Amino acid sequence: MHLNPYGEYAVLMAASLANDWPETREGIVARTRDFGMTMEFRAGADDRAASRAVLDEWLRVVDERDPQTRASLLNAALAAASAYPRLTDHDGEGWHLHYRDTDQTLPHVLAAVISVGTALHLTTRGMHRLGRCGAGDDAGDGCRNVVVDVTRNGRQRYCSVRCANRSAVRRHRARGRITAS
Ligand SMILES: [Zn+2]
Ligand SMILES: [Zn+2]
Repeated sequence: MHLNPYGEYAVLMAASLANDWPETREGIVARTRDFGMTMEFRAGADDRAASRAVLDEWLRVVDERDPQTRASLLNAALAAASAYPRLTDHDGEGWHLHYRDTDQTLPHVLAAVISVGTALHLTTRGMHRLGRCGAGDDAGDGCRNVVVDVTRNGRQRYCSVRCANRSAVRRHRARGRITAS
C-alpha cells in the first residue's frame, strides 16, 4: 500500500473507522481494502478490541487542539508503533515504503499506518486539519464524526453536506431571533 506524500488515505481510513466502527474483525479488514491496502494480516488473539484501542488513542490526537500537545501525543504513538522505513514490493503493488516491521497483526499495522499517515497529513497540510464535525459544536447536536480536512482552502468544518446544512439552518434561525427581538 502506498503512503502518498500527504498521508491522505491512512488518515481518511482512520476517520472512516472512527465514524463507522465495523462489527467484526473481517469488517475492519474490508475497510482497509476499501482504502487501498492489499496485505494479509497475521491473526492476533483479540484483533478487534486491540484495533479499537488504536482508534481510541488516535481520537485523543483528534480531540487535542493545541498543536504542541497534539504533536507530543502523535510522537508517542509514532514511537510505539512505527519503525525505520523499509522498501517493499508485496502483493504486486510495486516498490514502496513501509514504516513498520514486517509480518504484523491488524492492530499493529493500523497503529503504524495511522500514526505515520496522520503525521504526514498534519505536517504537510497543516496541524489544524483534523478535528470533529462543526455541527457537534451546536447545543443539542449529536454529531461527533471526525473531519479530515483535505480541501484546497483548508476550511472543511463539517463531516457531510447534511451536517453543514443543518448547522447553517440553525445559524439562520438564531440570527432571525436576534433581529426579531
Ligand atoms: Zn504496502
Ligand atoms: Zn457531522
